[in-house]
Amino acid sequence: MPKAVLFDLDGVFYQGETPVPGAAEVAAWCRQERIPHLYLTNTTSRSRADLAARLAAMGLPIEEARILTPAMVAVRWLQEQGIHDAALFVPRSTRDDFREISIASDDAESTGAVLVGDLGREWDFSTLNRAFRLLLTADPPPLIALGMTRYWHAADGLRLDVGPFVVALEYATDVRATILGKPAAPFFHAALQLAGSAPGETVMVGDDIRGDVEGAQKAGIQGILVRTGKFRPGDLQLDIRPDAVLGSVAEFPAWWAGSP
Ligand SMILES: [Mg+2]
Repeated sequence: MPKAVLFDLDGVFYQGETPVPGAAEVAAWCRQERIPHLYLTNTTSRSRADLAARLAAMGLPIEEARILTPAMVAVRWLQEQGIHDAALFVPRSTRDDFREISIASDDAESTGAVLVGDLGREWDFSTLNRAFRLLLTADPPPLIALGMTRYWHAADGLRLDVGPFVVALEYATDVRATILGKPAAPFFHAALQLAGSAPGETVMVGDDIRGDVEGAQKAGIQGILVRTGKFRPGDLQLDIRPDAVLGSVAEFPAWWAGSP
């Protein structure tokens, strides 16, 4: 029987600006039942504080302290590596999460690391090319991917996420990215450490068959897929076998009680 839960946020608790029906009750239930739980998001399109405020505005009782973002894991990683400055390819609001490191200016010719997040509509040729030039040097800095999500479900439809841009930079430079968000194991390990639980007694609930389910399973965590957000029926035809498939996160308490 699992003891701790890791939840994905986007597509599981909300979609666009709308909460998933029953999701607020599940968040409240976890608190009432004192179940160790965290929210793992690859969102780098806004800061952790902005995200928490947005969740509250949607009526989702989710505390900022329970949200784990790739930015948090990346800052810790940079500090461990003794790297004090980095070029950031994240939206302006997310820069708040990198207060502890010095941020390279747009005309810098070298940097301690290149960090790529979900820049969304702010990507253009010169921005991508700036990241490329910083990496294509005799002694390239580390390329850090804040997640490798391929795409996400915005209110107006599917949109490219961070992964495709990281792969473009890898292809152009032969620099392999270090991934510090889902589906990479270090992100799940950081979550387990924070939740104080072992992989075998933890479940991950998400709408991304690769980022959430496969990523968790590779870290030894059970992966539960929900049929909301970016879920598509074709996800169940892949060679990834979720440990359970739920209509939405609203069904999670029943699953937890062993009576789905
Ligand atoms: Mg999601």
